[in-house]
Order: sequence, then structure tokens, then C-alpha cells
Amino acid sequence: MIQKVLIANRGEIALRIIRACREMGIKTLAVYSEADVQSLHVQLADEAICIGGPRSSDSYLRADRIISAAEIADVDAIHPGYGFLSENAKFAEQCESCNIKFIGPKSKSIRIMGDKSIAKETVRKAGVPIVPGSDGPVESETEAVKVARKMGYPVINKAVAGGGGGGMRIAHNDVSFAKEFHVARAEAEKAFGNGAVYVEKYIQTPRHIEFQILADSHGKVIHLGERDCSVQRRHQKLIEEAPSPFLSADLRKKMGKIAVRAAEAAEYQNAGTIEFLVDPKGNFYFIEMNTRIQVEHPVTEEVTGIDLIRQQIRIANGEKLEFDQSDIKITKHAIECRINAEDPSRNFAPSPGAISLYYAPGGHGVRVDSHVYSGYSIPPYYDSMIGKLICFGSTRKIALQRSYRALSEYLVRGIKTTIPLHKAIMCDPTFIEGKATTAYMEDFMTRTPPDLF
Ligand code: ADP
Repeated sequence: MIQKVLIANRGEIALRIIRACREMGIKTLAVYSEADVQSLHVQLADEAICIGGPRSSDSYLRADRIISAAEIADVDAIHPGYGFLSENAKFAEQCESCNIKFIGPKSKSIRIMGDKSIAKETVRKAGVPIVPGSDGPVESETEAVKVARKMGYPVINKAVAGGGGGGMRIAHNDVSFAKEFHVARAEAEKAFGNGAVYVEKYIQTPRHIEFQILADSHGKVIHLGERDCSVQRRHQKLIEEAPSPFLSADLRKKMGKIAVRAAEAAEYQNAGTIEFLVDPKGNFYFIEMNTRIQVEHPVTEEVTGIDLIRQQIRIANGEKLEFDQSDIKITKHAIECRINAEDPSRNFAPSPGAISLYYAPGGHGVRVDSHVYSGYSIPPYYDSMIGKLICFGSTRKIALQRSYRALSEYLVRGIKTTIPLHKAIMCDPTFIEGKATTAYMEDFMTRTPPDLF
């Protein structure tokens, strides 16, 4: 049984994992970079080890140092959180070979789903609808143009190793395609160390709807319903909600079944997410699987009452899922706003630095997952998310009203944040009516005066 966990991450997710471990009577070891000495995860864990310099490449991405820390402190499991090494099959394999449990799927599943074009091919064979596109990566511009013409423009060039909204370029005709194809390859090489790119039909004004999967090591795979993550900026999520205001009960049931089938195709174990794009007519297409816990997991926790981190640890322990698909009941609505240290009035420029005053909202139906506090200084080296506000209630209307109320209480002084932006979105008729697609943010920003933020 797992008795001590190393948390190979920082920020709010490191705290989230410490909290779950503490409730389960499991000891925790934090690892941290020199820039994170003042971080809450370092202060709240039972033990902490510094693993290197401020840059992620010198610390949170150093698998060798993390494994050494695990051995020195004699932990029996590593939780990778999200980002950093969480979807690194080699790291999972190293843990496996050192007899340290990796709290996540087997390295084999990470490998299959980590390459977007192999992932698509794997689930297609299992009868899951995929976005039409090239069969695997395309090597030359001539080959790529052929595929693009056959599908019809617009198309999107995507890095097989992509993640975090990077490595995607849209093209509307042959001329822009030639340019975007090369740019996508160069960007993919730089960002992911793998320049392989495939071509996909660009779905216009879709919703991004994803299903939360839980799978144990005894062959049981279930889903915990969906999250609608259509409010995105540059392919990065800003707001997520559950359930989706778009799905009918029938479509939800159909997509849920197919999501389970997709996870089974990768012999998946632990928590994971099957992502779909859904067009305005309700046609849905698999785009990728994330083989880790996701930033937006709390909305699912609040509508199902299931603690996903606890489930991840139980599954890694070899325990059976305690519930069946028919036990999963969704009776609430939850909305998450990502609070980023960015200035929405200046094209979302990063705004690191010292927080002079921090006051988080509370009250009925409000949850804040954050690692910051008054006097904390946000280092410039990592992503800009400083917290997540999750508001929930019996209806979507209540979740919306509660989000606006909580955002109005939320105080972060000394830096710029996305709080005013979220407040404006919570009052916007298109969002209120549940009509936001992935094209929503661009439209919202063009019709909203920047001085509002
Ligand atoms: P990442 O791994 O970087 O998160 P995804 O494949 O999950 O990339 O895509 C992120 C977002 O990019 C999607 O939610 C969607 O908004 C947009 N996107 C991706 N593929 C397509 C496509 N074929 N058509 C339209 N939009 C797309």
C-alpha cells in the first residue's frame, strides 16, 4: 500500500495532491526549485527537497533528480500532477523500473495516446469517430497539400507531440497552407523536440467537450460525465463547466459510451480525459486523450461528489473502483474560472511579481484551489495560473450568479489578473445563454472595450 508520495509538481495542483494524501493518512514529499522556496506546497508537505534551479529544465523536468529524491526519502509512489513530466512515458517507465508506483497510467498507454496521430488511429480502429485528416504525419509539402485539397479548406496543421494549445496552424487555401505547414513543423520541433505534423479538417465553431474517465487495474472503465471547455484563448482553456449546456441526454449517453471505448482501446488505467470537438449539428470527433489529471478536474468533482485524486491513488494501489457507471449521478452544475496573472487589457501580457494583498472568496457553493497568499511573489518561470475558482449549485443559473458574486469578492492586489475578464464574461448574454463555442473569446474580445479590465 502507498504510504508516502512524492509530488513531482508545484503550484495549486501540488497542494491539491497534498490535501488528498493528508486525508488518506499518506505522507508527502514536496520537490521544489530554488524559485519556489516560499511556495505553499513546500511549507505544507511533510518533507521537502530542493531539486535545482528556477527553470523547469533544471528542476521540475529533471526526472533523474526527482527519482533520486524519491529514493533518498524512500517514497513508494510519485504523483506527477499535470504538465511537466505527467505525460512523459519514459519517466513513467523509469518509475516502474525503480519499483516506484507512478500515479497514472502505464507507460504503454501514455506512449499510444501521447502521439496524437497514433492515438487517433488506435481509437478509430475501435469505432470512435475522429476528425478527418492525413493517415499519420505528413513528410512533404506536396503530400500535405494533396491531403488538404482532398479534405477541403480550412485545415489545421497539428504537431503529433502537441500540448497546451501549441503547434497548431490553420490554413484557408493552398497559398497559406504552404506557409503554415512549414511554420507548424518548425514550431513543433522547437516546442516539443519533434517536428512531425499531421493535417486535419478544421472544424468551424465547434464546442470542446471532454469526458472524464476512471479505469481500475481490474478492467473496469467508467466515465464521470463531461466538461464543456469551449471558452478558450489561443486554444487554451479559460472557463470550464459541467454539465455542458449543449448536450442532450441522448448525445451525452452516446458520447460517454464512445469515450469509454476510446480509453479501453489504449488499455487505459487511472484517471484520464477523452477530448472531442462537437460541431453545431452535434457530430462529434475525438481529438486527443490526456493521460493525466487535468486542471479542470474540480468541476467534475463538484458535480459527482467524487474525489479524483483519491481515486487516482486508490487505483495506483491496485484497488477496485467502488462504483459502476449506473452509480454516477450528476445533480449539480459547476463552473471553473482560471485566474491567471495576466493583463487582459494588454493582450494577456504575463504579470508576475509580488501580491501585496490576497483575499479569496468563500461561502456556499464556492471552492478556490490556489497556492498564493498575501506577500507571495509569483516567479516568472512557470505558467501564469495562480488559482481556480469553482462555483457550483443546483442549476446553471445559480452557478453563474455565484461565480459573479465570488469574482466580485476576489481580491488580488499588486499584479494584474483575469478576474475582471471573468466578471465580464459572467454577464455576457452569449455565455449566459450557453452558446459559447471555441470561437467565442475572439468575438468577445473584439466587442469588449479593453479598459473594462
Ligand atoms: P492541445 O493538446 O494543445 O491541448 P488539442 O488537440 O486538445 O491540443 O486542441 C486544443 C484546441 O484546439 C481544441 O479545443 C480546439 O479549440 C482547437 N482545435 C484542435 N483541433 C481542431 C480542429 N481540427 N478543428 C478546429 N479546432 C481545433
